[in-house]
Order: sequence, then C-alpha cells, then structure tokens
Amino acid sequence: MAACLFCQIGARQSPADIEYEDDEVLAFRDIYPKAPVHLLIIPKRHIESVMALSPEDAALVARLVLVAKRIGEAKGFAERGYRLAINCGPEGGQHVDHLHLHFLAGRLQERKVERR
Ligand code: AMP
Ligand code: ZN
Repeated sequence: MAACLFCQIGARQSPADIEYEDDEVLAFRDIYPKAPVHLLIIPKRHIESVMALSPEDAALVARLVLVAKRIGEAKGFAERGYRLAINCGPEGGQHVDHLHLHFLAGRLQERKVERR
C-alpha cells in the first residue's frame, strides 16, 4: 500500500513525530492538532477503517486502545482523562483511509449537549 500516507509514515518514508512504537502499533502527532495533545494511533498493518475489520482483528483493536491508555498515563492524563475518537468512512468524517484512533487531551472544549 505504497500510496497510503500512514503506511508511508510506518515505513519511515514520510516524516512524522513518532511518540510510541511497538511491533504492531505506531503513535505519532497529528499534523493539524485539534487539542494541546493530539496523537494518532495506528496499526502498522494497513486496515482501511473500522468497516474493514474482521473478528480476527479483535486483539489488534484492543492493543490500539491499550496503547492509548499507556500514552494517557505517560503524558499525565491518567486521572484527568482524554478523548479517543475513530472516524469511520466518508460519512463518518474519515479523511485518511488507514484505521486510526485520535488521542486528544488537554483543555478539550466542552461538548455541547442540546437540552430540550
Ligand atoms: P480523519 O479525518 O479521522 O481521517 O483524521 C486524519 C487526521 O490525519 C487529521 O486529523 C489530519 O490532521 C491528520 N494528518 C493528515 N496528514 C498527516 C500527516 N502527514 N502527519 C500527521 N497527521 C496527519
Ligand atoms: Zn495504510
């Protein structure tokens, strides 16, 4: 998948500020941060989106979430908390077609809750 930006980052063919790496998972800074701390956590293997996941990917998905937890702890947000988000497909706001978990932390805007 040479044309995939996040595969290229994983292969070090495209630059990124990598903050975490293991054999299956990579986390790097989002180039247009929407929060003081905004990382993207990806599987190194190319998976297009949540919609492309199969039951065999369950352990990998769990690893992505556990890396988020570990990053939260490492960056001092274990108590304060953070937001994890996955945009899924064209109508879900996904712009890069390689599965990624957004890790957002620090001074998050309150979510507006509509009250009726
Ligand atoms: P999404 O809209 O959920 O697909 O998120 C894609 C994210 O990738 C956006 O938040 C972008 O700011 C981010 N992004 C795009 N290009 C790069 C890049 N070269 N390095 C790091 N993050 C990027
Ligand atoms: Zn890819």
